[in-house]
Order: sequence, then structure tokens, then C-alpha cells
Amino acid sequence: MSKHTNIKNFDKSKRYKKSKRRAHSRHIKAVLCLCCCVMLIAAAFRFFKYESPSPPNDTEESTWSLILVNKWNYIPDNYKVKLTELKNGEAVDERIYHALQKMFNDARKDHIYPVVASGYRTAEKQQELMDEKIAAYESEGYSSDEAKSKAEAWVAIPGTSEHQLGLSVDINADGIRSTGDDVYEWLHENSYKYGFIYRYPKNKTDITGVINEPWHYRYVGTEAAAKIHEQDICLEEYLELQNGI
Ligand SMILES: [Zn+2]
Repeated sequence: MSKHTNIKNFDKSKRYKKSKRRAHSRHIKAVLCLCCCVMLIAAAFRFFKYESPSPPNDTEESTWSLILVNKWNYIPDNYKVKLTELKNGEAVDERIYHALQKMFNDARKDHIYPVVASGYRTAEKQQELMDEKIAAYESEGYSSDEAKSKAEAWVAIPGTSEHQLGLSVDINADGIRSTGDDVYEWLHENSYKYGFIYRYPKNKTDITGVINEPWHYRYVGTEAAAKIHEQDICLEEYLELQNGI
């Protein structure tokens, strides 16, 4: 083999190695590029998943949580509620469960021990409560008309009770570690932080149509609850302000 042929073969092998190295480097670049793409897609997914302005439930919240039910506004016939059952057998609208649980947990941290005495009620249950109250007044000697009107001051007419919405709860003390007054005071000061309001204040009975009920709390969402608490108004007044009447 001539010297010339040897040089030629040497150049060939050099070129071959060089092109192999180039291919290898292209391969590494492609893999790196792919990794970057995957990381970018993952980052974008996390951003849209966790940083979206509001989950779908929140956008609808002002609609469902501000429904007005009182003696002049009956519950719509087609009203549907999805319930979550509490440990003691009472139930609430599943959308308020976490806020209620958080409020109770935080109350316990402050050594206040509330219990849900009454949550969701069916129309039949509400009628039962009304019948019992009327019977109680009749047994005290009131005529049936008198007994009925007296009972209506305490018990909502079926179809006009917020308990039928599943958005209200009557909260009492456990009777062992806390008194009713301790619980009512804590709720009065803190419930708005969780979206609940003291629904029937004593200075608003002419507007709400209900006597002072320091145990009855209604979920309206944190935004409305904060304004209602801050301005010392009731739900009816808040809705009037919202509607610009
Ligand atoms: Zn109540």
C-alpha cells in the first residue's frame, strides 16, 4: 500500500469519526430540546391549573349563595339541593360544607365548641315544626288563629325557611365546654370570615320579618358576608344596595 493510499484512508476514517460525532451531538441536542418542551408544557399546565383566576364554582357563587328567601320570597318550586351529611345526622348544601367545617375548626382552636342543631329541612319537616308550635300555643289556651300567628313569629311558614335551602344552620353550644352565649359571641365576631352571616339581628326584625335569632347563620359567600358585617346591615338591605334600588 502506498503512502498516498494510507493518507487517504486516514482522512476517510477522520471524516467518518467527525460525522459520527456530529450525529451524536445532534442527537443530544434533540433530546435536550425535547426535555425543554416537556418542561415548558408541564409548567404551562401547572400555571393554568393552579393560577386560573377562579374555579367554576366561585364564578357561580354570587348566584346561588345570595338567593333571598323570607316570608315575602318563597323558595322556587324547582329548587334542588345536593346535600352533605354531617357526623350528627344533620345535612347542609355540599357547597358550604368546607366553609362550615373550617369555621368550626377555628372556633375549637379558640376553645369554643359549637354544634349544628339544625341544618337542611324538607318542606314536610318545616310543616311538622309549625304544627308542633301551633299545638303548643293552643295547649296554652290560645285560639287556633292566635296560636297560628304566634307560631309564625317563631317558625317560618313552609316554603319561606332558609333551612330548606341547605344554606343555613342553627348553631348551639355543646353545653359542656361552651355556653350558648360564648358560641353566639364568637360567631358574631368571626363568622363573616368564612362567608356566614348573623341572619336575623335584633335591630332588623322589621326588615327580615324574623325575631332575633343569634343561633341562625346563613352562608352568603365571603365577599357579601364581609360587607354585611362591616356595614351592620341584613341580607335584604345588602341585596337592595347591590341592585341599586
Ligand atoms: Zn334557623
